[in-house]
Amino acid sequence: MSCALWSKRLGFSPVLIEPGTALGGQLLEINRINRWILGIPGRTGPALAELYSTHVLDEAIDVRLGARLVSVMAEDFGFSLVVREGENCTASLSAQALVIATGLRVNSSDILGLIPGALPLYESGLLSFFPLDHLESMEALEGKRVAVIGGGDNAHFTARDLASRAAFTHLLIRSRPRAQPVVRQEVEALIRQGRVLEHSGARITGFHQGSGGIAVPLARNDSDTEQIEVDRIFARTGFAPNTEFLAGLGHLAGLERNHDGYVRVDAWKRASLSFVYAIGDVANPDYPSVVAAVADGAVAAQAIARDVRV
Ligand SMILES: Cc1cc2nc3c(=O)[nH]c(=O)nc-3n(C[C@H](O)[C@H](O)[C@H](O)COP(=O)(O)OP(=O)(O)OC[C@H]3O[C@@H](n4cnc5c(N)ncnc54)[C@H](O)[C@@H]3O)c2cc1C
Repeated sequence: MSCALWSKRLGFSPVLIEPGTALGGQLLEINRINRWILGIPGRTGPALAELYSTHVLDEAIDVRLGARLVSVMAEDFGFSLVVREGENCTASLSAQALVIATGLRVNSSDILGLIPGALPLYESGLLSFFPLDHLESMEALEGKRVAVIGGGDNAHFTARDLASRAAFTHLLIRSRPRAQPVVRQEVEALIRQGRVLEHSGARITGFHQGSGGIAVPLARNDSDTEQIEVDRIFARTGFAPNTEFLAGLGHLAGLERNHDGYVRVDAWKRASLSFVYAIGDVANPDYPSVVAAVADGAVAAQAIARDVRV
C-alpha cells in the first residue's frame, strides 16, 4: 500500500494484486494495540489496516482483491501479466516494474510435516500456530494443561499469557531459549513459581491423542526420554516468507532468495532481476515491522522512478 501510494504520487499508475478479501496482510490478524508506530499510537492491527486502505482508496489506486498473478512474461517495455480474478475471470496487464510484497506466514511445516500425529491434532483444533490465537481461548483453558512449542519471543509471550492467567504450561524448546532478556525474565519468574515447566533441548517424537489428553513423548538423546500430557498445544515455530508462488511464474522463478526463501534485495529494494523489487517482510528477515514495510515501499517507489525513467 505504501509503495502504491508513493508510486502514484511519483506519476505512475500502480495496481495492487491481493488474493485476500481485504488489504492489510498480517495486520488484519493482530487484534492488539500497536504502540510501535510513530504518531499513530493506540490502534489495533485491523484499525491500522483500515486507516491505510482508506488512504489507498482515497487516492483512487487500482486495487484487485481476490486476485492472483498467474503468468509473468518479460517484455521490452517491462512485463506482461495475467491475473486471475475470481473463478473464471482473467485480466491482462502490462507493467514497467513489479514489486513483491507478499509478507510472511506461520511456519507450520516443521511440525505438521515431520512429527507423527501432528496433522490430526491440527485438523481437530487442538494444535495451532498463529502467535496470538491463545488469546481467544484463554477462559476455556482455565485449569487445563497446555504445551507451548518454541524458544523465541512469541513462545515466551504465549507461555507468559497462559501461565499467568489460567493454565499449567509446559514450554518445549528444541535447543535453548532465544527470547529477548526482558521477555525471558518474566517467564523465568513463572518457572520459579512452578507455573511453567520448561523442557529445553527436548525433541518431540510424536503426538498421541487418548482419553487422558494428548501424550507428547520427548527425547533428549537416545537413552533419555520422558512424556508429558496436555489438553492443548500452541506452536510458535516462527515464520516463512511467501515466495513459493514465484516458482510457477516463469521469469520470476529465477529471483535470488536466501536459504530461508527471503528475496534478496539491495539498499534500493531492487531484487536480482531487472525492474523487480521486493519490500516488507518478504525481503526483511532481520527486523520485520509495520514501519520498516512502509518505509521499504517508499524506497522502492523512488528506485522505480529512477530506474524506469533513465
Ligand atoms: C502476532 C504479530 C504481532 C505483530 N506485532 C507487530 C507490532 O506490534 N508492531 C509492528 O510494527 N509489527 C508487528 N508485526 C509485524 C507486522 O505485522 C509485519 O511486519 C507487517 O505486517 C509486514 O507487512 P508486509 O506488507 O511486508 O506483509 P504482510 O502484512 O504479510 O502482507 C502481505 C500481503 O501479501 C499477500 N500475499 C501473499 N501471497 C501473495 C501472492 N502470492 N500474491 C499476491 N499477494 C500475496 C497477503 O495476502 C498479504 O495481504 C506483528 C506480526 C505478527 C504476526
